[in-house]
Amino acid sequence: MPRTFEEKLHEYARVLVETGAGLQPGGKLQINAPIEAAPLVREIVQEAYRLGALDVRVDWRDDQLERLRYVEGSREAALFIPDWAMEQAERMVDDGYARIGIRGDDPNLLSGVDGSLIAERTKRGAQLSEKVSAAVSGHLIDWTLGAMSTPAWARSVYPDLPEAEGVARLWEDIFTVSRINEDDPVAAWEAHVDRLARLTAYLNGQQFSAVHIRNAEGTDLTVGLADGHVWDGGALTGPTGNRTVPNMPTDEVFTAPHRDRVSGVAVASKPLSVRGTLISGIRMTFKDGKAVEVSAETGEETLRQLVETDEGASHLGEVALVPASAPVAQTGSLFNMTLFDENAASHIAMGRCYPTNVQGGGDAERLAAAGGNRSLIHVDWMIGSPTSDVDGLTAGGERVPLMRQGEWVVDAAK
Ligand code: ZN
Ligand code: ZN
Repeated sequence: MPRTFEEKLHEYARVLVETGAGLQPGGKLQINAPIEAAPLVREIVQEAYRLGALDVRVDWRDDQLERLRYVEGSREAALFIPDWAMEQAERMVDDGYARIGIRGDDPNLLSGVDGSLIAERTKRGAQLSEKVSAAVSGHLIDWTLGAMSTPAWARSVYPDLPEAEGVARLWEDIFTVSRINEDDPVAAWEAHVDRLARLTAYLNGQQFSAVHIRNAEGTDLTVGLADGHVWDGGALTGPTGNRTVPNMPTDEVFTAPHRDRVSGVAVASKPLSVRGTLISGIRMTFKDGKAVEVSAETGEETLRQLVETDEGASHLGEVALVPASAPVAQTGSLFNMTLFDENAASHIAMGRCYPTNVQGGGDAERLAAAGGNRSLIHVDWMIGSPTSDVDGLTAGGERVPLMRQGEWVVDAAK
């Protein structure tokens, strides 16, 4: 039965609260969202209280206010972050507030603003919020990310459409990739994350020494995997014991490459939007884990700067497998947002790995000894396509087909 826009918005809120954040009766919830997302946020709040939430707090973001700080504020104002704001965020973590983040910000918001000022404020914010970030990345609290179709974001995805049409089209994309058009979206998500769980269980049992990815676009890459690597994907149950789905959409299973065991050629199958620049035609040659040749058809300078950020930035921190039939890929659009784009195709990431992708990886020394990569950056770029074949390579040199023509061929994926 087709749903009206309001019904879809309601179902989307239900999926974010129940499936995404895994909110339980008596739970507390914090929502971080752009002010344009008010209609969606109200649905989320309604759903949360219906489910029995004890408290729901909303932190509104306004792109325009963010810009004004830089453009009209003094240098001191641009860099000022009060201690009490960070203390509040830490107290909410300690108090067990689950989090729902809504994306949809203007990708070009800060164009024209002094880049060094943005970098300094971002770094200062990262230093001050280290405890909160660690709680989030370590899943000590339940959280998920969703999205809102805002005019600014829609304009960057569909620059040729009139504003209202672009916003409507982007909403349909969000609903499609979030499985809101299914009969029972919450049940559809359960089935989807169960399938991803079977896949990660299978891959973790195999403990392949490497995966080999090749396709018609020119990629022929052997990605050695970290010792004791862990494949993750779909749902995650953290210390709270609640099953959550941290990213919506999510269609990837991913793990940590070994920093020094990647060789061959990787060719981008889609452009990469980073730091306000579109980088297309990326081609990198890897030797002993390091990108030794780096080129791009456009944005090559930005790509080089990225890879030269620090030692780890020229090594890989993630390899992720995504089937060509994934809903994001089916839209055919480039969303200029990692949350969406990384679920469009198999990808690799330059820079740091996720500690959760290595057994005992919470310990920095163990992570490094296993081959986990460290860096200030983590930038995903897509290499998968409908012509991709992927094999798992065993320690004994045996080849096990994982994907053919972009689709899973292992039983666990059925
Ligand atoms: Zn990924
Ligand atoms: Zn990534």
